[in-house]
Amino acid sequence: MKTLTKTLTIGMLVLGMNLTQAAEKVTAGAKGGRLLGNESPRAEFFVEKDRTVTLTFYGADMKPVPAQDQSATAIAEAPAGKTRIAFEKKGDVLVSKAPLPAGEKYTVVLQLRQTAEAKPRNFRIPLNTAICEQCQHPEYACTCHDD
Ligand SMILES: [Zn+2]
Repeated sequence: MKTLTKTLTIGMLVLGMNLTQAAEKVTAGAKGGRLLGNESPRAEFFVEKDRTVTLTFYGADMKPVPAQDQSATAIAEAPAGKTRIAFEKKGDVLVSKAPLPAGEKYTVVLQLRQTAEAKPRNFRIPLNTAICEQCQHPEYACTCHDD
């Protein structure tokens, strides 16, 4: 009986690991945005209806945690030209001070600093706010992994 329990536990661990690996391509956060691959707390990139961007942070248990020393800048490589957009802390999240420029299917480079001393990390996000019919997330946060 003991052996069976052990086997089951290992089996579940392996299964759990596989699920985690499969989900590492694009994961959606609680708001349905794109979860970035930064170290914990991970940031979720979410485009609001007014096209401002909200960054929400999640701990290892995927529960939202208040933003601390993180800071971010977005560089929107829009058809009309590159635009830098700063973020400011608003309550527990970071919000962009300006909406994303008009247009779709351009790249947004998000520079994220975990702390004031940390080196910024760049995340390239292909902007497409159309809703994916399969997963119901915006295309920039599509979790279908059908490539
Ligand atoms: Zn999808």
